[in-house]
Amino acid sequence: MEQLAAGAVLHKHELVYLLNHLDEDSRKQLQTLAHQKRVQAYGTSVYLRGLIEFSNICKQNCLYCGLRSSNKELSRYRLLPEEITACCREGYELGYRTFVLQSGEDDWYTTEKLVLLISSIKSMFPDAAITLSIGEREDEPYTRLLEAGADRYLLRHETASPALYQALHPTMTFENRRSRLRALQRIGYQIGAGFMVGLPGQTSADLADDLLYLQQLQPDMIGIGPFLPHHATPLKNEPPGTVEQTLDMIALARLMVPDALIPATTAMGTAHPQGRELALQAGANVVMPNLSPLSVRPKYMLYNNKICTGDESAQCRFCLERRIEAAGFHVDMGRGDSLKHLTHSRHCI
Ligand code: SAH
Ligand code: SF4
Repeated sequence: MEQLAAGAVLHKHELVYLLNHLDEDSRKQLQTLAHQKRVQAYGTSVYLRGLIEFSNICKQNCLYCGLRSSNKELSRYRLLPEEITACCREGYELGYRTFVLQSGEDDWYTTEKLVLLISSIKSMFPDAAITLSIGEREDEPYTRLLEAGADRYLLRHETASPALYQALHPTMTFENRRSRLRALQRIGYQIGAGFMVGLPGQTSADLADDLLYLQQLQPDMIGIGPFLPHHATPLKNEPPGTVEQTLDMIALARLMVPDALIPATTAMGTAHPQGRELALQAGANVVMPNLSPLSVRPKYMLYNNKICTGDESAQCRFCLERRIEAAGFHVDMGRGDSLKHLTHSRHCI
């Protein structure tokens, strides 16, 4: 752990050994090292992003996800562009300067419609950043969306194990996922990769590969959350990922990619009442409160018991601010670009 904190690159077998030998004391030490690293990079700031879950319609069929196309129990919705901009307006008035637009893979939202949407959000709120999280598309749409004003793109790699990826994604391929992430990075987005912890059949060697992949990719953002079962999916009877193991992975990600923006995810908050605070204390530095209209919140059910489905946007904003401060941090409502991006922009000027 100390070697990692000093910037060393560990071999896979060393990481696996570490993952298999963590105990209560060494976990504490790991979290302390990760916290120190985060303070060096970002101080005690926690960036807030307003999350708008604008469509739960998805053509893909990921085995773990409640939005998968085979789930016929789910009532589907799609917010119209004007409903999305209304959410942004409410968010802007609450102080948000990043909007994360997330959805299933919904082809009704063509490149043309998204270009119009993104340019109108940018013209209304020029000082806000737009993050997209809408799945896999080709290079050309990614380029046009960036040109329209999108700044960042979240596309988790989900798992670095080719076999596990293939078993969980019957309609997608491991190679394409990675090729899309590299394309987004090359095209000029600040990119977010990441993975789930505790997937059925996932081993310590797989988790070591997740960390090594992140270290090699150097994404601007890293989303890590526990796998949580959803009752209407094939994985409904599988045990959830643990909070403890997810915290280990967040802390290791902070040591291995020190400049990354790492969210304390909603899945962490669902797995444990204090899950997001624990994540912040283990190296995370972003929280993404929900800005979606209350009427659609319960329908964006990726996994069972997802939290904050009944709270108004303003409640989420101020509830989280209180929690973040009680955990020893302070809220930063700025755009919160990654240090890697800021350094790069300075070199370009
Ligand atoms: N369709 C887009 C974005 C929406 S899903 C995409 O797949 O990229 C956003 C994230 O939710 C996924 O990347 C996945 O890691 C996470 N997720 C989905 N189902 C989950 C589950 N059952 N438990 C934990 N995380 C889940
Ligand atoms: Fe669709 Fe994303 Fe869920 Fe997969 S994880 S089914 S792509 S919403």
